[in-house]
Amino acid sequence: METIFSKIIKGTIPSVKLHEDDLCISILDINPVCKGHLLIIARDPYPTISECPDETLGHMMHLAKEADKKLRAVLHCDGTNIMINNGKASGQEVPHLHIHVIPRFEDDNQKL
Ligand code: ADP
Repeated sequence: METIFSKIIKGTIPSVKLHEDDLCISILDINPVCKGHLLIIARDPYPTISECPDETLGHMMHLAKEADKKLRAVLHCDGTNIMINNGKASGQEVPHLHIHVIPRFEDDNQKL
């Protein structure tokens, strides 16, 4: 099934790309919860973690760790939310596996 993220990966719709490799891409979220909100997206269109091979899932989590490090260094955030909406019932709008990495600041009162 083609999703908005498949189109971004193919390059048929634009995005602000932060990283790409054989397994994943990372882009800025078009509707960010706050500055620096990024997405790590599997290249293959696995709908949820259930379909995703452990190697890819592990690599995505490694990229989330790297993103956390960069966001702390660049934006001086105090923490990050690293989250997956996994399945429609959980609020997943785009059925193409992705991890949200959202910078957080002490007392930002951000509601997710
Ligand atoms: P939710 O919308 O509830 O966060 P998801 O976990 O499926 O559900 O997240 C999809 C994310 O993809 C949203 O944060 C949305 O802003 C983002 N998004 C949708 N279209 C684009 C796009 N063209 N470029 C970048 N991010 C996008």
